[in-house]
Amino acid sequence: MKRCISTGLVAAILLVPPVTAGAQDVQASVQPLADQTAPQAVAWRRQIHAHPERSNREEKTSQLVAAALREMGITEIKTGVAHHGVVALIRGNRPAPVVALRADMDALPVQEATGLPFASQNPGVMHACGHDAHTAILLGAAKVLFQLRESLPGSVKLVFQPSEEGAPAGEEGGAALMIKEGVLRDPEVSAIFGLHVAPDLPTGQVAYRAGGLMASVDRFRVTLRGRQSHAAMPWLSIDPIVVSAHVITAIQTISSRRIDARQPIVVSVGVIQGGQVWNIIPEQVVLEGTVRTHDKAVRDEAIGLFRQLVEQTAAAHGARAEIEFSGDHAPVWNDPELVSRMKPALIAALGEANVVESPPVMVGEDFAHYQEAIPGMFVFLGVRNEAVGAVHPLHTPQFVLDEAALPVGIRTLSQLAIDYLRSKTAESPPAK
Ligand SMILES: [Zn+2]
Repeated sequence: MKRCISTGLVAAILLVPPVTAGAQDVQASVQPLADQTAPQAVAWRRQIHAHPERSNREEKTSQLVAAALREMGITEIKTGVAHHGVVALIRGNRPAPVVALRADMDALPVQEATGLPFASQNPGVMHACGHDAHTAILLGAAKVLFQLRESLPGSVKLVFQPSEEGAPAGEEGGAALMIKEGVLRDPEVSAIFGLHVAPDLPTGQVAYRAGGLMASVDRFRVTLRGRQSHAAMPWLSIDPIVVSAHVITAIQTISSRRIDARQPIVVSVGVIQGGQVWNIIPEQVVLEGTVRTHDKAVRDEAIGLFRQLVEQTAAAHGARAEIEFSGDHAPVWNDPELVSRMKPALIAALGEANVVESPPVMVGEDFAHYQEAIPGMFVFLGVRNEAVGAVHPLHTPQFVLDEAALPVGIRTLSQLAIDYLRSKTAESPPAK
């Protein structure tokens, strides 16, 4: 259910006065405003880090976000979008175009082992994927952009999204539900930007890529049904364990022999469940795993091949296969036209030496859902710094990020929003 909170806090508006600036001044204003916001962004991030909440349970995090936005003087704030999502609007000096900036807010079922003074106070839950930083960065960018609102040639929609890591079983959530609940409409959004912290990239840098950046995530569950028998009389059975061995081998040929070798693809089985006792051939075996690609056509082809190989391999042995695909999203696919339009904004924000091209990665992100609806660009934000121990991978109990990256992220998102609105306005100047 959506609720709309409008609190016209005059006092709060006075706390964050607009900075009136021409085009060049706006450019010059982003960095100092981002730097001014940095200590507060660190405080927000630590507060969120200490109180992590799992997917679709981001109640306190979303309260913090809404309160921080209200305190800045932003009045158009919707809470309760897709469970605990928060969507706010900063109106510039023209109503359109509208650009969206997105951050995710959920944490993971990981027991933190960083020893940080602001470590998780929720046992077994940790911000091990940096979504605490994403949320703090978007709040920081909100503050910068709100201060520059009178110079913005359009509006900025701030999208604080829950449940990126996946909703609990039986629940909807994440980007797909945000879209279903209308986040890209009213007012209509024409492009979206987002970022993710990257522990293999040094602080100060941002990595971009045109086309496929992150993999599609398709999850499969295959039930191979045979016939149970005594292990001493296998000819009376249809042995699903032997069938599963053939199936697992067969699906490896999708990547090794069927899909163009120049296309990244992974087919992995993570679960095999079958049998209870050493001397009984069971009735069924269940396989679970994932198919990941960087291209929509390759994804469709791979899933088609998967179905064909599994069904026909099972049939060749007299068994039956039931195949379910779920939890899926497309690749994070950065619109090439948008990337070439926005690369100068990254360079303006960070300097040419700090804007690097990323190789494609096989992990996924539900940001892909927005990019299926409108052009979008997702970038990686460097958070690696040996000096502060920020060297461990995402999703591990030791994961630490370099907070010096927060103002870099704030600059990146702010500049992308400003330059996108400017470039769109230049395409269609207001009627005279
Ligand atoms: Zn993440």
